[in-house]
Amino acid sequence: MKTKLGLLYGGKSAEHKVSLQTALAVIRALDLEKFEIHPIYINVEGQWIKGPQLLEPVENVQALEFTNAPQLSPLSLAPALFQGDQQESSPLDVIFPLLHGPNGEDGTVQGLLELLNLPYVGNGVLASAAGMDKVAMKNIFAQAGLTQVNYVSFIKSEWAKAKDAAYTRVEEQLGYPCFVKPANLGSSVGISKCTNRTELDAAFAEAFQFDRKVIIEEGVVAREVEIAVLGNDEPECSVAGEIVPKKDFYDYKAKYEDGDTALIIPADISEEEYTEMKEMAVRAFKALDCSGLVRADFFLTKDGKAFINEVNTMPGFTPFSMFPLLWKHSGLEYPQLIERLVQLAQERHAEKQ
Ligand code: ADP
Ligand code: MG
Ligand code: MG
Repeated sequence: MKTKLGLLYGGKSAEHKVSLQTALAVIRALDLEKFEIHPIYINVEGQWIKGPQLLEPVENVQALEFTNAPQLSPLSLAPALFQGDQQESSPLDVIFPLLHGPNGEDGTVQGLLELLNLPYVGNGVLASAAGMDKVAMKNIFAQAGLTQVNYVSFIKSEWAKAKDAAYTRVEEQLGYPCFVKPANLGSSVGISKCTNRTELDAAFAEAFQFDRKVIIEEGVVAREVEIAVLGNDEPECSVAGEIVPKKDFYDYKAKYEDGDTALIIPADISEEEYTEMKEMAVRAFKALDCSGLVRADFFLTKDGKAFINEVNTMPGFTPFSMFPLLWKHSGLEYPQLIERLVQLAQERHAEKQ
């Protein structure tokens, strides 16, 4: 019996296009002897569209944008997930949410899938939500004793009432340079590096356009090293990789538009540095109660000190993204990686029943 795999992709986020690329790559990689693919497309307006079954690999990304199909609201979604196609009524076996950012990677879709009692790939509600909120994530990391840069956070109303007091606190507790970020985004959207109060003021205003909560972090001069984690209760780590942005920092453009950020795999780091980051990656995974996968991102200073920056609960997942490349270099090819994730989803679901 083939596994009926629902692919949830697109989404109302800055990473819509990336998600389409990912969906195409996943469809191409799947073994059609083993899987029956059921695409569910979320357009940029956030409408859910159930596509025709793509039993043959699709040619291009455009073929994945179902514009003429009936649209569903997330509320009327249950039938789309439960029915393989119009004729039959047996549920899909597993859902793979190939979505990034708010409304996809933040626990909301995961909550819906929990309510529908469907197995799904990746992190559950808590890990997804905590991983999307940088303040919640860092508070949990602090509690788990993980080394990270100093940070403070403000909500918009607090800042609006006493801007100078907020800036003074940032200067006293962190100093310059510092990074101002919306608490709940990814892909470097709304993030600024500040070296003085004028920039700080502009950075707060910018970050508050995206979120009602911001986080400000001490800036570090460091290499950026990433480790991919895979598993449920006993997660395993990949080799480490390094990203070398050509620009001042790894901003949105560097991530998705320039395409010339170098990925170095394996990263040129010492055995001790790797061992330490691996241990931290697993500790972070467990602290957030993760499942399936995360990419753990670190800052590694010249003197070999590792700070955890964040975990991404649905990291970039095209075949050219860091997460799959790290596993490829660790001996797990893209199609096998997908199968492993589906298997982990089923195992986790079975445990809950
Ligand atoms: P996102 O979740 O959007 O990827 P990050 O917190 O990873 O946000 O920040 C994006 C990038 O900004 C990082 O990859 C790094 O290049 C730079 N950056 C973020 N925080 C710091 C910091 N505290 N010190 C130095 N660089 C930082
Ligand atoms: Mg992130
Ligand atoms: Mg990041």
